[in-house]
Amino acid sequence: MKELKLDLINAFKELIVEPNQRVVILPHVNPDGDAIGSALGMAHILKTSGLQVNVVCVNEYADFFKWMDDQESVTFYSSDPKKVEQLLDDSDLLICLDFNHLSRTGKMKELIENYSKSTVLIDHHPYPQDFADIIISHPECSSTAELVFHVIRALDFEQYMNKSAAECLFCGIMTDTGSFDYNVSDPQTFQTVGELLKFGIDQDYIHSQVFDNYSADRMRLLGYCLNECMEVFPEHHAAVIYLTKETQAKFNFVKGDSEGFVNYPLSIRGIHFSTLFSEKDGMVKASFRSKGEFAVNEFASENFNGGGHCNAAGGEIYASLTETLDKYRKLLPVYQEKLVKTKS
Ligand code: 5GP
Ligand code: MN
Repeated sequence: MKELKLDLINAFKELIVEPNQRVVILPHVNPDGDAIGSALGMAHILKTSGLQVNVVCVNEYADFFKWMDDQESVTFYSSDPKKVEQLLDDSDLLICLDFNHLSRTGKMKELIENYSKSTVLIDHHPYPQDFADIIISHPECSSTAELVFHVIRALDFEQYMNKSAAECLFCGIMTDTGSFDYNVSDPQTFQTVGELLKFGIDQDYIHSQVFDNYSADRMRLLGYCLNECMEVFPEHHAAVIYLTKETQAKFNFVKGDSEGFVNYPLSIRGIHFSTLFSEKDGMVKASFRSKGEFAVNEFASENFNGGGHCNAAGGEIYASLTETLDKYRKLLPVYQEKLVKTKS
């Protein structure tokens, strides 16, 4: 990872050395393991240092992240918008984690746009929007959770780290690297994990909490999708899985059930571009993954109002699932040159 910029670390430190500062921490909408892990991890550390900290989420995250210490204190804008507004009004500092654009704050966008106190952004997505006073952006970092660890160390706040914080940060690194499968070419990521293990965390337990915690319905849904709702385009090195509302209802779908589905087609020989389309009310949510050079964040921003990383991105489209699939099928030949060029 590149060196942290000391001027940014010092500016951040000035904002958090005052005792009793009131801090709100905000991860992106539909928080994943890195978003909620880095938010709660950072909260544990800053609370121990004597600050008043509240984690606020735009909406719910999956049940398999609900083992993290203190997660019951998170306030959700989706269920208690007034309280979130109050927490923001009463705060001195806002720390945004794991997103690079205000559009990733969903229904809280306007609220965050109008936030008048200091804002710090810590993130690993490329091309951050210039909405914060201090932007600590490291796209080369495996996860925001790893970046939080480096920032905490640079701030000389490692003294406030504890096991709860280490568990949360470990979860962020584990989930954003697909259990250390990708984004792990930098030895520093494993060194960071080594540092976290020193806090006595049980990595088998954490892995199990996240990945061995699915319902039977979810496993049957996965089987059904792979069998009935996957199209493979060998000539384009691409595959797509689609999840209709009908299928979701059939398998009693709950938030998080399709987590990881998009990765499966990448295990097919010759496939290095995978897509998952999930039908929602009046729109379709898209997830993209790739191996090699094919930049799915470009594909997402050029066609599906989205973005993300080179090999993992998402987006959304206000169209029916049928229209979305038609659009996708027509796009594959357009991207053929890039798809063929990509090695996997
Ligand atoms: P996922 O497919 O797991 O939802 O998201 C993969 C990556 O794409 C994550 O880094 C996430 O932050 C980003 N991402 C997902 N959905 C969107 C979206 O609608 N807009 C943008 N800009 N990024 C997204
Ligand atoms: Mn992340």
